[in-house]
Amino acid sequence: MTTPRDPEVTAAREFAGDADGLQRLWTPHRMAYIGGEAKPADSTSHHCPFCAAASERGEEHDRAHLVVKRGQNALVICNLYPYNSGHLLVCSNRHVADYTELTTVERDEIALLTQQAMAVLRAVMGPHGFNLGMNQGEVAGAGIAAHLHQHVVPRWSGDANFFPIVAQTKAVPQLLADTRRLLADTWDQATATVSSNESEKS
Ligand SMILES: [Zn+2]
Repeated sequence: MTTPRDPEVTAAREFAGDADGLQRLWTPHRMAYIGGEAKPADSTSHHCPFCAAASERGEEHDRAHLVVKRGQNALVICNLYPYNSGHLLVCSNRHVADYTELTTVERDEIALLTQQAMAVLRAVMGPHGFNLGMNQGEVAGAGIAAHLHQHVVPRWSGDANFFPIVAQTKAVPQLLADTRRLLADTWDQATATVSSNESEKS
């Protein structure tokens, strides 16, 4: 398998460190979402990347859409345009814009997945803190305002100094694939102590 070269993208092997020799699934056309020219043309669910991610299941689909974890009514994906390593988005499966439109079941599952996402990121990346939150409406900075999503952004001491560099990093897709796999593989083990609706009932 050859790796298609995009002049905007730097191959992972050109980064510092030892290449591991693994070949990457590299499907930029399927990963294109959030922000810039990849932003959906309209606000319907037709062009919504979160709806696309939620629409099907399966390992290949999850890889292509950067799905880390699925619940019954919500899912966790890697942000294609991360502010920081491990930047996750917790989305409802349903295409709704406003937090007040969520059912209590959806709201609770997004809250639970947010807790679990923090636990997984702590286990895998050891961040010193987090930014959590939702941008509601384009005026508030939402890249995809029509489908609500909670940001889970791990933070490290001093990382604000390299945020502008991170923003210009061009090799994110390959790194994102690795991050997604690592977080997905660690999820169940790292969240064993995070309370779930099920365990609270028992
Ligand atoms: Zn949607």
